[in-house]
Amino acid sequence: MAFTLPELPYAKDALAPHIGADTMEVHYGKHHAGYTKKLNAAIEGTELENKSIEDILANVSQHSGAVRNNGGGFYNHDLFWQVMSPNGGGNPTGAIADAISGAFGSYDGFKEAFSKAAATRFGSGWAWLIKKADGSLAVTSTPNQDNPLMDIVADDEKGTPLVGLDVWEHAYYLNYQNRRPDYITAFFNVINWDKVNELFANA
Ligand code: MN
Repeated sequence: MAFTLPELPYAKDALAPHIGADTMEVHYGKHHAGYTKKLNAAIEGTELENKSIEDILANVSQHSGAVRNNGGGFYNHDLFWQVMSPNGGGNPTGAIADAISGAFGSYDGFKEAFSKAAATRFGSGWAWLIKKADGSLAVTSTPNQDNPLMDIVADDEKGTPLVGLDVWEHAYYLNYQNRRPDYITAFFNVINWDKVNELFANA
């Protein structure tokens, strides 16, 4: 059973001006589609065809580099689209609001930690808000298409992703050129806190 490119939960221009339609066109239509296609090629005819993406990532150290890179890319982008919304942004709501205040002192404290993780990731990668196995929240970052579900990640950076921000240049260059900090600031205007609460409750 092959993985399929998930549908975008909104129109390609819905996140503008924070993320423009031209970026979405290439990022979803080319990059995410490419990871999906290459993941399927990498697992074709293997036992991984019958596994969930979460299961594949949890044991990724046993698989090929192609599975690691494209399996990560497939999962990470799916999460990324879902944790953004044209109706998003503003202060967190619900249970995640209390958990963020508890872990980071305040929403501003979280924004500072998350922005730093995203800005200081050298080269390509992702910034994350995760829920660890012990229930605590943490901000982390990973290189390339790695993520906190993978068994190659250090124990204290492992967990269920609740928010993921793509800081590859392909995610922001058309809108922001080299200004990654401006892109990070804009991301907070589109975070889908309803979805983050759902992920938090199920983690
Ligand atoms: Mn990307």
